Amino acid sequence: MDAITPGNAFDCKGAIFTENDGQAEPTKVTAALARAAEGRGAEFLTHCAVFEVETTGGVASGVVTEHGVIRAPVVVCAGGAWSGRFLRTLGLKLPQMWIKGSVARTTAAPVISHTATWTGVAFRQRRDGTFNIATRSADHDLTLESVLNFPSFAGSFVRNKRDIKLNLNRLAFDLLGGSFSKSALTKELTTHRILDPEPNHKVLNHVLSELRRLLPDTAAVEIERKWAGYVDMAPDMLPTLDALDQPSGLVLATGFSGHGFGMGPIVGRLISELILRSKPSLDLHAFRFSRYSDGTKLTPHSVV
Ligand SMILES: Cc1cc2nc3c(=O)[nH]c(=O)nc-3n(C[C@H](O)[C@H](O)[C@H](O)COP(=O)(O)OP(=O)(O)OC[C@H]3O[C@@H](n4cnc5c(N)ncnc54)[C@H](O)[C@@H]3O)c2cc1C
Repeated sequence: MDAITPGNAFDCKGAIFTENDGQAEPTKVTAALARAAEGRGAEFLTHCAVFEVETTGGVASGVVTEHGVIRAPVVVCAGGAWSGRFLRTLGLKLPQMWIKGSVARTTAAPVISHTATWTGVAFRQRRDGTFNIATRSADHDLTLESVLNFPSFAGSFVRNKRDIKLNLNRLAFDLLGGSFSKSALTKELTTHRILDPEPNHKVLNHVLSELRRLLPDTAAVEIERKWAGYVDMAPDMLPTLDALDQPSGLVLATGFSGHGFGMGPIVGRLISELILRSKPSLDLHAFRFSRYSDGTKLTPHSVV
């Protein structure tokens, strides 16, 4: 541990080190992948909400967007935290719980370690010496969906209740009707075009003091930036990767439960195989949509 993170004051008795783990900057990676896709003919429309999937005779035939209809032989639903609410407009039940994770960026410190580490707090030192820091405790901002989905998440909530803080704030009122009415969802999709929730300042201040304690060489760093995002949690913490029969032509790639960035490349390949209706190169049975209705016992397979 001292060779990987010199000068640490970790209070753990052992650790697991995965040498072939990687890390990447999400803003750079996603932009680079988009540019690469554009180079191969993909077209991106930003600030363009999809209001509904259009079906013709039970087959997905396109999407209705705020700028008009786009016809397509296959539609992929990859709406992140919105997927559950969106699919309800088609009568499909995908249980999702929004869990808010807060992150802070510190000012720069001398290079200590480039290994992403989780020891009570999670930290990753970036190339410029700044740290991204977070912790496992998270928030759940209550909405009507919390109530509708509670039965699917009760077990998971009880197990993790020490780490999840429930909040009643504006979101509950802002997202009141969209779970039931298409017109309300339409409004919510444009009003909350980019979900940018308030981070948990108290938790992040605690994480900073823990970082300074665990890595004494960071004693002088301060928080430079804070942000938060909603993780689209599934009851079993597994994504849904499936081509549906009803409506056929609709492919689901969602529910990444806090691990979707790392899974991106392999998921991209598997979804392209589903779109081309070829046999997926991995067995996707565990990720089928029907597990939510075929009596499968859904127990969490992972942690956030
Ligand atoms: C704080 C935090 C830390 C994380 N850390 C990690 C990590 O270390 N490693 C990791 O692997 N993962 C991590 N994740 C999770 C990762 O960011 C997600 O799993 C991943 O972004 C999910 O990708 P996605 O494409 O399914 O959804 P998103 O990235 O949310 O993309 C969905 C997009 O669809 C858009 N959209 C939704 N509905 C509509 C609509 N109707 N019309 C038009 N557009 C729509 C949304 O605006 C959004 O841009 C973290 C998440 C958070 C919040």
